[in-house]
Amino acid sequence: MVLYDHVCEICQAGVSYIRLLDPRGRVECRPIVDAELAALHPSLDPEACRREMHLVAPDGSVHAGGDAIRWLLGHLGWTRPLGWVAGLPGLRGLVDGLYRFVARNRYSISRCRGGSCRVPRPGGLPPGTPLRVFWACYWIGFFLRLPLLAATLVYYPAANTLAYLHTWRRRVDLAGGRLRVCFLGGVRPDLGPLFFGERFYSLVYDGLLIDPGSVLMGRSLVRHLGRLGRETREDFVGVVATHFHEEHVGNLDLAGEALGVPTFAGPATIELLRQPPRLPFMRRLIIGQPRPQGTLRPVLPLGDRLQGRTRTLRVLPAAGHSSDHVALYDPEERLLISGDSFMAAYFTSPNPDVDSRRWIQTLEGFLSLDIEVLTDGHGTIYTERADYGEVPWVVVRAHPRTLLGEKLAFMRWMQAEIARGVSEGLPFDVVEASLFPWGRPWAWKNWYFDELARLMSLGEFSRTELIRSFYRGEPTAERVPARFPRVWNLCLLTRRAARLGPGPGATT
Ligand SMILES: [Zn+2]
Repeated sequence: MVLYDHVCEICQAGVSYIRLLDPRGRVECRPIVDAELAALHPSLDPEACRREMHLVAPDGSVHAGGDAIRWLLGHLGWTRPLGWVAGLPGLRGLVDGLYRFVARNRYSISRCRGGSCRVPRPGGLPPGTPLRVFWACYWIGFFLRLPLLAATLVYYPAANTLAYLHTWRRRVDLAGGRLRVCFLGGVRPDLGPLFFGERFYSLVYDGLLIDPGSVLMGRSLVRHLGRLGRETREDFVGVVATHFHEEHVGNLDLAGEALGVPTFAGPATIELLRQPPRLPFMRRLIIGQPRPQGTLRPVLPLGDRLQGRTRTLRVLPAAGHSSDHVALYDPEERLLISGDSFMAAYFTSPNPDVDSRRWIQTLEGFLSLDIEVLTDGHGTIYTERADYGEVPWVVVRAHPRTLLGEKLAFMRWMQAEIARGVSEGLPFDVVEASLFPWGRPWAWKNWYFDELARLMSLGEFSRTELIRSFYRGEPTAERVPARFPRVWNLCLLTRRAARLGPGPGATT
């Protein structure tokens, strides 16, 4: 266990590196809280802990300063040789001296206490000072983590590619075939998983085909249906869409016709599907503009129950990700088919459809259910149940309640931070940056995806939209300006992007 000074930007950066080098989380990093120290180890003294980093090893021994650095290097996988080198006579003294120098001067090196996680109250400092201090600290945090951010630029594309290759057009049967997962794609849609790790799939559960993919994925869907075998095809009783987004509804008519079964969606989704809103260019290009659905056979409105082949599923309103979203819940299987109403616990680049306050209510509702298996809308099943086998890149061993609770806590934290920033009259770019203190993993782990999404979607999906999502439908949302990296301000494209306000009413 490492005890660190959480109001020091350099110490926070150090912890980010420990987290990168220790993906399994064997080293616990805790901020120094005076009242807790005695319970952690009787020899820990608050003053000494603040003077230099302290580490309590699993055998109960306590290491401090340069000694703690050597212990960490020697126990974190790749850095073991460095730990050995740092312990060589001669170098040992050098490491200790260097550490002591940085520790003694850490506040003057990183310019401010608190890091970007603390926004100083404007009234507490002379006019103009607080934001200079804030931005100085923010950029120091950024540059301290530049190697870490560069590593994510290599790591995530590589991980995305591996997941994509592993699941390419594949069908995965889980729980003895009760739940089948059909990965969909197409030439252009395949850019989605490669760039953003967002894979597309359709689920087959109890005679229902759920979320049949976008128009550009029609061929892969038809291929899957062909391979399911006549018996399974004859078992189908319906095709269902969880919400109106293009990758979930584009093939409703096609699948209904191919299987000869009725199609279902929530009443609000059906309304939107009569004339689907025109998509921004990038989504049209990669995922495909949906055609009006319900033309071949009417899409039937979902009530609060949906009859599968053998079981009755509950249909739950799940607004937040989009206003029309529904989720399906099987109490017998303790399975929640959440669609996009559960994306990653730390989802930080929403689009203008997202209403975070309603999403919080939806998550609170989910947490009142008994859930053991959770399917998200983009390729991942979360469960600890052994009857759902080990399938790398598809089944993640985590309890759904833990993840839903984590997401809810994160969203509530963001809501409180934004409300505090807005009430203090801070500029929106400062409020946005304060949601991403570099010491928190989502700030640097999501940075690649968030900024790539911001660039590629011309601001439609962005961290700025995160603030708007908490004020959806209110004047505050409209006052949050689009923010782009400087280089984009030079491009004419920005003019178009600046027009992207809180989003067209038709898509919310
Ligand atoms: Zn969606």
